[in-house]
Amino acid sequence: MKVLAALPRNRTVIGLFALMVLLPASVFAVLMVRDLRNEQIRAAYQRAERQRQIVRLATADLANWIFATRAESAMSKSLFRFRIAGGTIVFADRQLTLSLAAGQQREPLASFPESTPLTTGSIAADYFPRIQAFLRDFDAGRNTGAQFFVRLRALVVRLPGRDEGYVLDAMPLIEYVNQRLEELCAGEDFAATLSIGNPRSNAAAPAAGAFVVDGFPLFQIVFHDTGAGASPTVRQHAFAYSITLLVLVTTLGTILVYRVTSQEVRLSRLRTDFVAAVSHEFRSPLSSILALSERLEAARVHDPEKLRRYHEMIGQEARRLGALVTRLLNFAQIEEGKKVYSLERMELSGIALDATQACQPLRPGCIQFCDEDAAASLSIRADRTALQHSIQNLIENAVKYSPPESPVTVRCGRVNGDTAPRGYAFVEVQDRGIGIPPSEVAQIFNKFFRGQQASELNRQGVGIGLALVKHVVDGHGGSISVDSEVGRGTRFRLLLPIVEMPHA
Ligand code: ADP
Repeated sequence: MKVLAALPRNRTVIGLFALMVLLPASVFAVLMVRDLRNEQIRAAYQRAERQRQIVRLATADLANWIFATRAESAMSKSLFRFRIAGGTIVFADRQLTLSLAAGQQREPLASFPESTPLTTGSIAADYFPRIQAFLRDFDAGRNTGAQFFVRLRALVVRLPGRDEGYVLDAMPLIEYVNQRLEELCAGEDFAATLSIGNPRSNAAAPAAGAFVVDGFPLFQIVFHDTGAGASPTVRQHAFAYSITLLVLVTTLGTILVYRVTSQEVRLSRLRTDFVAAVSHEFRSPLSSILALSERLEAARVHDPEKLRRYHEMIGQEARRLGALVTRLLNFAQIEEGKKVYSLERMELSGIALDATQACQPLRPGCIQFCDEDAAASLSIRADRTALQHSIQNLIENAVKYSPPESPVTVRCGRVNGDTAPRGYAFVEVQDRGIGIPPSEVAQIFNKFFRGQQASELNRQGVGIGLALVKHVVDGHGGSISVDSEVGRGTRFRLLLPIVEMPHA
């Protein structure tokens, strides 16, 4: 919801994103789809055109072959020839002459076994009636000089301009046409075969990818893909990659916009909280100083003990203000990348002890210091002020986030190597306070972050302390970790590399 609320403020980012990515990407996708569709339509049209052309060529070849009288023409492969002489048909090589007027009623050829031998009898009984019908149809203009009889599986041909004809079996006819088709389809991504169909079904409605041969209503040339050119074209690949890229860019862009938007929301909320917290941090010591100094000015306090306490309180509050200003200045330096640490060799325990003592007034008598390696010296290279302020910061937090008078322990020593790497010294600050919920642990070192409970309990703070401590520790080549349990307490641990003393 907060992201949605922030959308108007991020209109520029989203507008730019839409303009630079989504708009061109969508236009590109639409153009690509349209282009590809056009290309597919064009390719399909060209393919059909080539197939029609092949059918035309094959038809012309077939007509050439069956109507020619050359040696290699269809006639040379005929079953038998016939001649029309007056009212008779003469089958010269069979010494058979049949009257055209006779046997007009042909028997239907229900089953005509393939192996039926060609005899004078079968010519008279099976072929002659079909030849009669063919000639009748020819005279009536219902065929162009060639007619196929499906059940007879033979083509009856009358040679143009002659009183002669022949009967050709289906097999050599199919072989011839198929061979021509193979030649014509060479180099194409499809092949074609001749199919001779049933006059009652196929001729009326040719199958998909089939063309009826002109002048031969029962013949169909059927095209089928060979797969040679079926692999996707370069353009199709390019399109698939482009779409994938488009989806990726759009998704990444959306994530980016979402992240920028939510980060902006979070940062702006944190900044507002920070300004409020800083103002609050300044106001309370200032009010105390003002109230105390007014009393002093009015000379209403005569008790020397009270006077001393008032002065002490004014000093304390002023120091608190000073510490806050120092912290803010350090933070500003870090933000600008200008913070440099001047590292010098020194004793860690000394720094930790000074930090503890500086914090004693916050909870007198409750902050204990324990040097676990008191006998040995733990030398480190440190920026004294920065490191001491960091340890103080941890102690101040421990006091701030634990009940009054509950103990705070500061410990330092050498890492024994069981739980952390050897060659490091540690400083720990442990309290028995409110603890940190696991959901917040990962965020406490972020600038401006303040825990929910910390804010609800109205504890003073501006949310930059731990970010500063982490920066300092990192600048010393060390690390910071936290161990906490809600309601039981927290332990912060700094690890810093030990500088070994040169052997004498
Ligand atoms: P501040 O204390 O000004 O809020 P810090 O950066 O020092 O900012 O701490 C960040 C948050 O970490 C605090 O708001 C608090 O929620 C949590 N925190 C830090 N130290 C402790 C502690 N000792 N006990 C419980 N919570 C802590």
